[in-house]
Amino acid sequence: MTSDQRVVVIGGGLAGLRLAQRLGPAAAVTVLGEETRAPYNRVLLAEVLAGRYAPEVTALPAPGPALRRGVRAVRIDRTDRTVLCDDGTVAQYDTLVLATGSNAVLPPLRGLFEPQGRDLPDGVHAFRTMDDCLALSAALRPGVRAVVIGGGLLGVSAARALAARGAQVVLAQQGERLMERQLDAEASALLHTHLTSLGVEIHTECRVRGLRIQPTGGPGAAPPAGQARPAGQARPATRGGTRKVTGVELADGYRLEADLVVLACGVRPRTGLARAAGLDVRTGIVVDDHLRTGDPHIHAIGDCAEHAGQVYGLAGAALEQADVLAAVLTGGPATYTGTRALTRLTLGGTENASLDLAAFGETTALPGDDVVRLADATRRTYRKVVLRGDRLVGGVLLGELSTVGALARTWEGGEAPHDLFHLLTDDGGH
Ligand SMILES: Cc1cc2nc3c(=O)[nH]c(=O)nc-3n(C[C@H](O)[C@H](O)[C@H](O)COP(=O)(O)OP(=O)(O)OC[C@H]3O[C@@H](n4cnc5c(N)ncnc54)[C@H](O)[C@@H]3O)c2cc1C
Repeated sequence: MTSDQRVVVIGGGLAGLRLAQRLGPAAAVTVLGEETRAPYNRVLLAEVLAGRYAPEVTALPAPGPALRRGVRAVRIDRTDRTVLCDDGTVAQYDTLVLATGSNAVLPPLRGLFEPQGRDLPDGVHAFRTMDDCLALSAALRPGVRAVVIGGGLLGVSAARALAARGAQVVLAQQGERLMERQLDAEASALLHTHLTSLGVEIHTECRVRGLRIQPTGGPGAAPPAGQARPAGQARPATRGGTRKVTGVELADGYRLEADLVVLACGVRPRTGLARAAGLDVRTGIVVDDHLRTGDPHIHAIGDCAEHAGQVYGLAGAALEQADVLAAVLTGGPATYTGTRALTRLTLGGTENASLDLAAFGETTALPGDDVVRLADATRRTYRKVVLRGDRLVGGVLLGELSTVGALARTWEGGEAPHDLFHLLTDDGGH
């Protein structure tokens, strides 16, 4: 890439801005970002919701004039190498980078949308953007009844934050246990106990099938139950103001009263632009080891990209992909071989009531794997590692994370641990 080659990045989130920063101010980079707010790190949104951080604390390094805020890319023309924006402008590129992130999944709940409508009822919130976070925060008052749908990383973070703000929180998890993707059964059970101690009522194997809606007047006021919207439609929902949520209906017919409902049912890569431009899209936009799509002028990084069948949806992977792509574009020998992603979470408002957790790799053993566990019920700590042959393939730590750095380095390096007991009980001075 020469300094006069135009790089256009679609998406001013973690991945897009990291790439612009790595390419440096001398490069001819334009970042198109549809959000009007100053760029922020969405990993910290739960802390903003919990009232622990002011929104400014989440600010990403200022990208300068490279970022065009409030501008959405609406079409890619691969023949002319242009991007059409919603303000009518056209950006010409030599290299285009898709860093469009993901959307919150809106589940097919009865009553979520009106027929042909796209407005979320009042009181129903996704949890993906700073706007979502501030709208939820503004709706909070002590004693407000909130139902969080989803018991993964997002749902657990949201439930903890809402409880810290004095809401009465019910978490409805369709699966058997919390954070199934990251934690083994024992760690999930400890997390369950911890959240319960913070005042969150948890229902597992609990499917929400619909919302109870009350019309609030105005044009187009809805009947109590509207038509389900198929999951996975990426179009962002808006707010209509003519319908209000009053509760949720569970699959077993039970009803829960609710003033607020948080949709934390996962995310789906934003791939609409790529698909419309004829690029290969499976779950995410398919890229090779140079983070390149089938079109040599177009790359994809972050939550929207799929590499070797993997869509990560994690900050660490988004940053690593941006770093590798910066090296690729500046002529380096870099290749991307995947990210060994570590999940970390702190749950709790005060020091005493706090629970730290970290998980990496495969936390549930396969037949033939060795497992080493250390549990201390009094100190509420739990450490477990999974070994395959002499390799560390995964681990989970709750309550006491001093050893996580050393363990994760061993796992990332694919090394055989020399002294496992030492690794589990001591951070080796790091
Ligand atoms: C509440 C919450 C907590 C999280 N916690 C963790 C955590 O603890 N650990 C972890 O590893 N990860 C966590 N994540 C995930 C992490 O935030 C993402 O993996 C990361 O932000 C991905 O970066 P990205 O740049 O690919 O996407 P994003 O940060 O989503 O940025 C994409 C940007 O592109 C913009 N965009 C999309 N389409 C267009 C278009 N057509 N034109 C212009 N702009 C467009 C979007 O508006 C958005 O600003 C969390 C996410 C959330 C929401």
